[in-house]
Amino acid sequence: MAEEGKVKIGLEVHCQLTSLKTKLFCSCSSDYRGKPPNTNVCPVCLGLPGSLPVLNKKAVEYAVMVALALNCKPAKMTIFARKNYFYPDLPKNFQISQYDLEGFEPLASNGYVTFTVNKKKKTVKIRRIHLEEDPGKLYHPGGLGFAPYTLIDYNRSGIALLEIVTEPDFTAPAEARSFLQKLRSTLEHLGVFDGSLEGSMRCDANVSVEGGGRVEVKNISSFKDVERALSYEVVRQRELLKKGVKVRMETRHWDEVRRITVSLRVKEEEKDYRYFMEPDLCPVTIDEDFVRRIKIQMPELPDARKERFINQYGLPEYDAEVLVADRSLADFFEDCVKIYGKPKPIANWLMGDFLQCLYSLDVSVKDCKVTPKHLAEMLSLMDDGVISIKIAKKVLWEMMKTGKPASTIIEEKGWRRISDMNVIEAVTEKIFKENEKAVKDALVDEKAINFLVGKIMEATKGMADPALTNKIVRDKLSRLKERLQLN
Ligand code: ADP
Ligand code: MG
Ligand code: ZN
Repeated sequence: MAEEGKVKIGLEVHCQLTSLKTKLFCSCSSDYRGKPPNTNVCPVCLGLPGSLPVLNKKAVEYAVMVALALNCKPAKMTIFARKNYFYPDLPKNFQISQYDLEGFEPLASNGYVTFTVNKKKKTVKIRRIHLEEDPGKLYHPGGLGFAPYTLIDYNRSGIALLEIVTEPDFTAPAEARSFLQKLRSTLEHLGVFDGSLEGSMRCDANVSVEGGGRVEVKNISSFKDVERALSYEVVRQRELLKKGVKVRMETRHWDEVRRITVSLRVKEEEKDYRYFMEPDLCPVTIDEDFVRRIKIQMPELPDARKERFINQYGLPEYDAEVLVADRSLADFFEDCVKIYGKPKPIANWLMGDFLQCLYSLDVSVKDCKVTPKHLAEMLSLMDDGVISIKIAKKVLWEMMKTGKPASTIIEEKGWRRISDMNVIEAVTEKIFKENEKAVKDALVDEKAINFLVGKIMEATKGMADPALTNKIVRDKLSRLKERLQLN
């Protein structure tokens, strides 16, 4: 097979600093979700004439935290710039962003992130990190291109966004996806970001195949779709190159429904934006003291936590990796260990049935109805022989759906294992009467014994203690055998 051209992928990731109380340049709440349209606004984020922005200091602090976590070097001084473009989601007709104007650096640059993909470690360089404001949100009733009119909601206008730009170091779409997962977990561990909020992390993916131009794919909303969109582009660009068609530099849109990319426009250039220094904000100095104070307060990050999970709980590396990939899942695990003790069974349940339930119900760990206490109780009930592992799986599903504790579900559903001798003996008596031929066979045939035990399990809806049932059946049969021999 002919050698195929090398793939280069670079990401531009926009993350909202969702833990901030207020927007980037005004005192409106950063909690804009679910509010009536255009109620979370003020003259600043509406871009009214005469209003002036004031920088949110906490946003700079968070940005520096992220920079350090991604091994970047924070700038000593940085400025804001106006990125000019006209679009209705941008009431000022420019976005306050950051740009490397002559003599200035972005907020942070030259970092790297190491992550695992297909069990191998991969490191990708971070080119730059900067702060900017989120635009408002447009609604096109009936869909873009079909809507008779467009609605604008400025509640999101001015929310603090962190733009993280990588070098084009990814060589496969799966790497981009793993990177984003690692990035999300890192930001969540820093406590600056909640990835379960809709639209809190948005990604533009740049991809080129050796010999062709770079294509930027916009509007991708999930990690899975980043991988899909990139895979689609790699195939599309390779086909073009094979036919001798030049791949032009352009911006494309990912159509999630049709799972294809479509051309949006010829790529805009930097000069189109007429960047210039924002005159309403003064330069930001990030002195060593500020950075040192942040460094001291840095919380535990995913890599360190993974190592700790291996050492402290004796987990295999794989388990630690899966748990730490999602901060809420890792928190859930540790909370559960505090109550129930045994780490490995908890990890098994979380990585297995628990994640499967979440996936099927399409909920996040944070929003799921099962608490660590509930899971711990379920595991204890299993240890005590109250429920079998088979029933435990059913209990977990019910817990997910109803939020009720395991003990309540078991009582309500009558799922408690029957270990009362008298109850099982009574059922056995009945089954023996109803299956005279099987009983006769069972005196000499092992298969018939299993048949009888099966009948009893069936009659008790699987709740009878299997070991006890077996014993009762065999005892009864041997007594019968003795009696027959005596006669
Ligand atoms: P712009 O802001 O105009 O999109 P940048 O120079 O900031 O341009 O680059 C944006 C992204 O494109 C970066 O993530 C970078 O890694 C990526 N990139 C640059 N060159 C290539 C390339 N040849 N193939 C794929 N991605 C690339
Ligand atoms: Mg770009
Ligand atoms: Zn405002």
